[in-house]
Amino acid sequence: MRRAVSSMAGANVGASLRLVTDKIKVAAECRPQALQTANVRLVAVGKTKPIELIQQAYNHGQRNFGENYVQELSEKAANPDVVAKCPDIKWHFIGHLQRNKVKQLSSIANLYMVETVSSEKIASALDMSWGRLKRDDRLKVMAQINTSGEDTKHGATPDQSVKLVRHILEKCPNLHFIGLMTIGSFNHDLSSGPNPDFLILVDCKQHVCKELQLNLEAVELSMGMSNDFEHAIHLGSTNVRVGSTIFGARVYPAMKSGENRNATLPTSEPQSTVTT
Ligand SMILES: *Cc1c(COP(=O)(O)O)cnc(C)c1O
Repeated sequence: MRRAVSSMAGANVGASLRLVTDKIKVAAECRPQALQTANVRLVAVGKTKPIELIQQAYNHGQRNFGENYVQELSEKAANPDVVAKCPDIKWHFIGHLQRNKVKQLSSIANLYMVETVSSEKIASALDMSWGRLKRDDRLKVMAQINTSGEDTKHGATPDQSVKLVRHILEKCPNLHFIGLMTIGSFNHDLSSGPNPDFLILVDCKQHVCKELQLNLEAVELSMGMSNDFEHAIHLGSTNVRVGSTIFGARVYPAMKSGENRNATLPTSEPQSTVTT
């Protein structure tokens, strides 16, 4: 059943996109009063999907797009059709960033935000790399927090979040701190209550704002994907990352039947043996 819906989504990006943006609007209107003022940004996650689908979404008005491999983002951003026909595209990097990929990432045209600054070391590397390019604007970044404590997830622990954000604010003059991001554990059952990862990220934000004397309204939260973006918005997300609901289910070459989706959701660069 779910598969049928997903492949339909792939065939009609415009309709799926409208459905998602409508749901975001409704969810935003239903937020608690204190959260009402913030806008919610939709990042359309096109990883593994062909450039044609990204262009379709762009033609329907979508501007923010997310990718989680540096190589794939690099190729998509440099695609002649994208360069010519999607001049206002805003690329978000949402994957695990390794130090040896920082330079390649920084040089990508229309790189808008790096959501996955997972350590002080990565922040400093990105800061230095961006500084060398002498761009007009600072690079927008989010600090990735490992709210679920899983080894497979990257990011600062909630306890380290103040330290990481302070490092970005005080030691990285070429970076513009935007907010906190989490991936979180998958398969949380909403009938058992709010997603604990989202609650932890909301907590982190309050703590960071208090310790570093930042305005609560000035710090964004990136949380929520296809399955839970409305729930995330209710809890204060201002940046939702939605892939399969817009572009259709992803098929990974390495996926064997019987494996579950979460086991195969890549969190780092693909092995060289995997061809895409
Ligand atoms: C793939 C991915 C998404 C989108 O996932 P969907 O479930 O397809 O919406 C969001 N965030 C990150 C970090 C991802 O890697």
